[in-house]
Amino acid sequence: MSGQSYNPVEMLEKLVAFDTTSAKTNIPLIEFIEDYLASHGLETHRVQTDDGMKSSLHAVIGPAGVPGIGLSGHSDVVPVTDQNWNTDPFTLTKKGSRLYGRGSCDMKGFISCILSHVPKFQKRDLKTPIHLLISYDEEVGCTGVRPMISELGKRLPAPRLVIVGEPTSMKVVDAHKSIHGFETCVTGKESHSGKPHLGVNAIMAAGQLVSELTRIDSEMRARSDGPRFDPPYTNVAVALIEGGTARNITPKNCTIAWMFRTVPSTDPDEIISRFEKFAQEEVLPAMKAVSPDAAIETVQTSRVPSLNAPDGSPAVSLALKLAGKNDTFAVSYGTEGSLFEEAGFSSVIIGPGDIAQAHAPDEFIEESELEECTVFLDKLSDYAEAS
Ligand SMILES: [Zn+2]
Repeated sequence: MSGQSYNPVEMLEKLVAFDTTSAKTNIPLIEFIEDYLASHGLETHRVQTDDGMKSSLHAVIGPAGVPGIGLSGHSDVVPVTDQNWNTDPFTLTKKGSRLYGRGSCDMKGFISCILSHVPKFQKRDLKTPIHLLISYDEEVGCTGVRPMISELGKRLPAPRLVIVGEPTSMKVVDAHKSIHGFETCVTGKESHSGKPHLGVNAIMAAGQLVSELTRIDSEMRARSDGPRFDPPYTNVAVALIEGGTARNITPKNCTIAWMFRTVPSTDPDEIISRFEKFAQEEVLPAMKAVSPDAAIETVQTSRVPSLNAPDGSPAVSLALKLAGKNDTFAVSYGTEGSLFEEAGFSSVIIGPGDIAQAHAPDEFIEESELEECTVFLDKLSDYAEAS
């Protein structure tokens, strides 16, 4: 079989055409990549969901049995629902120097660069192998990469370090905030609104909780202890609230969805335990006095740890060297990098595209960004051949 060949723009055109919105299957895209890699004689391994609707993909270019350099990207994209696009989001459209399409920036651009580079990697006499680590469901809380990470060093070879190609405009990013999501269900008791003393108003109890979260948010902002980040503080936000039946019924239920993003110096448990203490000690007793069934229950719905690469991080040092840069940056969005780092694999974030375009309508990537990433991959080939 002769190897299929695409330049990064042609590859991006192929990848954008697969609608891999997180809620949908990514299998057609994975099959396309499998066929492409197979045409270059490469073996691939899936890590699938139980229902077979989604899969990660792992492949190794170069020698087996040697820890490699992981190139990591997520195959899913955010929805285009309710967004006003001037082009078809799933047809890569070139206008001037910009390439428009959902995922062009976040982050099929990077995946296109690494895939189109495969034949070039193969021409080299690599001493250090290159590992391709393609995941799913990143946009819904970095959940899809976790089963693949837990296979590294077991069914799949472990990388020595991981380069995560999220859009950073090819800057070297060594830190990001953590993201924690929660759902709090408040259960009160219904009554006629003319007899409020017989009921427990779940919405008003939830209001007290919202006030406490607002206080925590203000205090965290005042600390302003993350000077590298924009904004330079931990923030807490209530994002969704739902409850009540009618104006003349004391509401029995109220649910709030809330989240926070921490700078690395904030301990997430501090916020969680302060909220829980307030709920159980300041709000719940008065509710229980009226109705023993009253409850406030909080579940954590998502968690992406912060990334805070240590001094001398092998991944950061290598990325700086390959990119020819001296400075590192911190960002306020979460990535799979922190999960690799947490699992013991030194990680760094560097990839083509500007994060300002990610998730937006008319998402685009500058063609020059793909070229800059390709130069970076050429430098990576030099490095992997020499050491
Ligand atoms: Zn992304």
